[in-house]
Amino acid sequence: MHNPPDRACVPEGTTLHAARLRRGAGGLARRLVDLALPPVCMACRAAVEEPGCLCAACWRGMEFITSPLCDRLGIPLAYAIETGGRPPVSALALDDPPAYGRARAVAAFGDVARDLIHALKYADRLDLARPMGAMMARAGTDILGSADALVPVPLHGVRLWRRRFNQSVLLAQGIARAAGVPVRAGFLERTRRTVPQVGLDRAARARNVAGAFRVPDSAGAEIAGRRLVLVDDVLTTGATIDACAKALLRAGAAGVDVLVFARVVDGAATPIS
Ligand SMILES: [Zn+2]
Repeated sequence: MHNPPDRACVPEGTTLHAARLRRGAGGLARRLVDLALPPVCMACRAAVEEPGCLCAACWRGMEFITSPLCDRLGIPLAYAIETGGRPPVSALALDDPPAYGRARAVAAFGDVARDLIHALKYADRLDLARPMGAMMARAGTDILGSADALVPVPLHGVRLWRRRFNQSVLLAQGIARAAGVPVRAGFLERTRRTVPQVGLDRAARARNVAGAFRVPDSAGAEIAGRRLVLVDDVLTTGATIDACAKALLRAGAAGVDVLVFARVVDGAATPIS
């Protein structure tokens, strides 16, 4: 069910502009397009056969999260256990349950996943959002099946103005394209600016984002009874995602799951039966 992707290229519905041109172009024109826009690896820009692909080295460097995994936190489990048909859960999730229902991630936050996210966020590689979104749609198959809408984690106005785009919105649009679930960026807004979570401990992170998100009054009626999937690039301690999930649940959402490109993983977790 949660198998590693079987090829380095992102499947259907994710063809980049160059590939569309290539398909439409014949003979000489096609060769000219290939010369002008040679497909490169999503992460390291080495030559690859098709656009929207990772080269073999980067593919090997992606720490894909595959079964068995904790159904709540989406982290890999050290071993599979017999749970009588119920999805396995980690001891970590039972000790400290998240506000959201289930999280899924394409990969652990390792070197290649970090390079992809940084390229998207800080190097204006907006072309990555579509193939990364397609990878997320695949990793989130089991939670997207029952989802009514995708809700990107909002950026504060100042940060949005500086960066000019919200990477979570772009990733959500990539997921929507591959999975057919609509994006509802207006379901959640950031009420105040928070300091970057990097360098803060767990308690400080939770304090930093407490009350920082709210559902606009205009979205309340649409959210009630809906199953939502929060979308972000990275999941670290989960403080931000938990604050978002709480706001949506308070507004009456029937369920809130989480889909990220990468999540921080501290070794394989112990499953609990
Ligand atoms: Zn590469």
